[in-house]
Amino acid sequence: PSELTHRSKPRSGVTVLAGPTAVGKGTVSTFIRDNYPDVWLSVSATTRVARPGEEEGIHYFFKSAEEFDSLVAKGDLLEWATVHGVNRYGTLRSTVAAAVAAGKSVLLEIDLQGARQVKKAMPEADFVFLAPPSWDELVRRLVGRGTETLEEQHRRLETAKLELAAAPEFDYVIVNDQVSRAAAALVELMGLTPHHTA
Ligand code: 5GP
Repeated sequence: PSELTHRSKPRSGVTVLAGPTAVGKGTVSTFIRDNYPDVWLSVSATTRVARPGEEEGIHYFFKSAEEFDSLVAKGDLLEWATVHGVNRYGTLRSTVAAAVAAGKSVLLEIDLQGARQVKKAMPEADFVFLAPPSWDELVRRLVGRGTETLEEQHRRLETAKLELAAAPEFDYVIVNDQVSRAAAALVELMGLTPHHTA
């Protein structure tokens, strides 16, 4: 896919980053959180259990299935989805609203189903699709991280094919050829000054 980073609409303060499995959304978002203090990376609620090193309120708000049900019932989530057929993830309206009110540039790193819901609820947001340099590279990244069984890898690659076809729904496409460069392109799009790293 070609890279489109010219602005086509006024800034809303909210940017949604989505893309296929294993493209590096998490890595790019973490890089931004650690290197660009002007960006506020939204902290989602999830029913997934914390991995070693993950902290409540920093990586996620960890919820039981019942607590998550209650957030859904109360309408507290801007969007939510079951990702990879297992756990539920959702964006808390209150945290996003507070960050926007405080004048922060908010970044939501969510899956495609969630991005589509935000597009309905908040069409003024910027929608960015993170794309792999090539299909072969996406396969290499998924297999290379070695966190999924062979069966799960196949399932995710089938999903990735459908996800890649969704790129035209987005305002911008950024190719994740190198994490620091993709992060800089995203930050620039958000109207912030990117660091110039080698
Ligand atoms: P992980 O379990 O590896 O932290 O995240 C798995 C997937 O959940 C990622 O693809 C990530 O984009 C997605 N995700 C994380 N938070 C949210 C959220 O609040 N809403 C939606 N729809 N997806 C999310």
